[in-house]
Amino acid sequence: MTERLSKYEDWARACMHLRCGLCRENCPAYSQLKLDSYSAKGKLTMLYHWLKGGLQPDEVMADRVFACTSCGLCDVACGYDQSTAIQDMKAALLESGVNAPESYMRISERTKETGNPYAEDKDAAHAYLETIPETKLDSADFTLFLGCTEIYREQDQVDSVLQILRAAKVSFNVISQNICCGSPTFRVGDDAQARVQAGLVTSLFADMSTSSVLASCSGCYRMFVHDYPSLIPEAEFPPVLHTVQLIDRLLREKKLKPRSLEAVVTYHDPCHLGRHSGIYDEPRRIIQAIPGLKLVEMEWAHKFSKCCGAGGGFRSGREEDAISIAARRVQEAESVGATILLTACPFCLRNLTDGAERISSSIKIQTVESLLAEQL
Ligand code: SF4
Ligand code: SF4
Repeated sequence: MTERLSKYEDWARACMHLRCGLCRENCPAYSQLKLDSYSAKGKLTMLYHWLKGGLQPDEVMADRVFACTSCGLCDVACGYDQSTAIQDMKAALLESGVNAPESYMRISERTKETGNPYAEDKDAAHAYLETIPETKLDSADFTLFLGCTEIYREQDQVDSVLQILRAAKVSFNVISQNICCGSPTFRVGDDAQARVQAGLVTSLFADMSTSSVLASCSGCYRMFVHDYPSLIPEAEFPPVLHTVQLIDRLLREKKLKPRSLEAVVTYHDPCHLGRHSGIYDEPRRIIQAIPGLKLVEMEWAHKFSKCCGAGGGFRSGREEDAISIAARRVQEAESVGATILLTACPFCLRNLTDGAERISSSIKIQTVESLLAEQL
């Protein structure tokens, strides 16, 4: 059961003997739940004792391990790939027969039963996608993949992306059915279901003869680029761009000419797009291409960006805690004088919006795509 964890033994032992605790700083789970066992160090300590037989996996361990947003801030603090070790712990716990807390387990169950983690009706997705003319186009330079959060929760984000692509006369079509990319199940350790989803998405693109994929959800983007190659190494997957990468290029080619807007804005790096994919500059260049905007950075930005609290199944598992973490991120944006908090992920958008509501903040939360679309 613990074979997949044995490669972490040396590091876990070293970590236990180091007195640094650097990974606690800004860990969303630790900062919210206030017990050392929720930090990366705490989780690695459990991993070590599990490997050595001094600790048997149980519901308490699962509670601690699954309380991780997969944000990777501990990786930056520590220099070791803690977030991957923690994700492997989640998978190893499931393999050993210990269930995740029920709220996390529902992500996998719903995806198995309904094809999406929200348990929404697929017919509703189909009816919605039917309203997008580009779902009926056979071939194009880009195929826009719409994830579950965009289809079921953030259709305004889809409208913004479509508006931009049409304005720049990009040759694109849109997937005509909802297939979850597998990120929610993968981040809660259900590799098998994530592999099923990866196979379905890959087949969809093969059927569409897709030459390049576009994704505006940072979680989908990370799955396609970084996780599919290990989940289904035999599969051929087309090149992938996040929408901010293409839009940045379109602006530099003068295919989009935004109107000016006088406002102070700040940018929240989605963990999947920033720390895990290294895309920091493109969204900032888009912001700076809108005349009149003043971009101010939060203290914790770029690779040190704090997590919004939504990822890794944490929002599904502990919604109230996730929103509290988002509320603190919103306060950070307010503290630098921003009136608009931008991001580049529909899932961050949702959690930050709920965080702003929690503290009755007047700050406006938008994606970069949404703000740009308003200025076209
Ligand atoms: S920063 Fe790394 S070495 Fe230090 S306590 Fe955290 S996991 Fe251990
Ligand atoms: S990945 Fe993020 S939430 Fe998980 S232990 Fe590391 S810092 Fe904490």
